[in-house]
Amino acid sequence: VKTSGKRDFRYFDVRFFEAIQQKYRAEAELRHAIEHNQFVIYYQPRVSLATGETSSMEALVRWAHPSRGIVEPRSFIPLAEETGLIVELGEQVIDSVCSQLAFWTRQGHRVVPVSINVSAIQFAKINIGESLSAALRRHDVSAQLVEIELTESVMMAGNEAVSSVLTAIQGMGIRLLVDDFGTGYSSLSQLQELDFDTLKVDKAFTARLERSEASKIFYKAIITMAHSLGMKVVAEGVETLEQVHSLKALHCDEVQGFYIAPPMPPTERQSVLAPALSK
Ligand code: C2E
Ligand code: CA
Ligand code: CA
Ligand code: CA
Repeated sequence: VKTSGKRDFRYFDVRFFEAIQQKYRAEAELRHAIEHNQFVIYYQPRVSLATGETSSMEALVRWAHPSRGIVEPRSFIPLAEETGLIVELGEQVIDSVCSQLAFWTRQGHRVVPVSINVSAIQFAKINIGESLSAALRRHDVSAQLVEIELTESVMMAGNEAVSSVLTAIQGMGIRLLVDDFGTGYSSLSQLQELDFDTLKVDKAFTARLERSEASKIFYKAIITMAHSLGMKVVAEGVETLEQVHSLKALHCDEVQGFYIAPPMPPTERQSVLAPALSK
């Protein structure tokens, strides 16, 4: 059936209107979830290839939805960023992590640092350094126990304000990590200037490690460069023992991924979440 251009336009219009309504509802639901503290943090260990011990854990947010169950971040982080709700959500993440670290510390076992993901939009909207220092004080947690993961897009913004906030955060004793390294466009000079502690190589490079010589060469070059600049390298998305062996041969420092452990909800003792890798 041939439809008129006019009808097509109206059809499009209705769909567009519905899409807006749906987005409006999703935003309202997300706002409600933030107001009612429906977010929980899962923790995924990062293991040192030299010692086999867990050296740190990454905090990964999940939405404990009353009817849909545990919802993964890809379903709500983009909307949270688009609407600015990521600021409030991010504050809750920082607060929960500090509260959890304080709890683990009170249990009296060795506690490893936790890294927190911070998106470029959070950096643009608020002073993350101030939120961090307030949360650390509120829970009486040492800055040494917190690390920040930033994607290259934060540095791409490249403005003075961002680098002064990053310098202040480092000055507090909080380590800075570059996340998803290899997918963005950070320059060597930026990496050096900000004295990042660690590069986390994006999981796409790890996935190709066994099949692609280019990926191995990339890893090798990154590891050599990072070490000469005093940075550590973490391989993300490690799913097989073969990858662990290759990364060890390449002198990669740490591994993170399903082969070691998936992100897990917190337990009474942090060490329960901290597997050791046999050497
Ligand atoms: P990311 O920071 O790159 O986090 C790593 C993601 O890889 C996590 O997905 C993790 O579950 C997943 N992963 C871990 N090991 C493996 C593996 O061996 N194989 C594969 N294929 N994947 C693995 P998740 O938890 O769904 O988080 C997705 C993204 O959402 C994160 O990517 C991060 O960008 C964002 N995100 C998570 N939590 C927060 C948060 O608190 N704040 C902000 N701003 N973003 C967050
Ligand atoms: Ca991350
Ligand atoms: Ca990553
Ligand atoms: Ca350094």
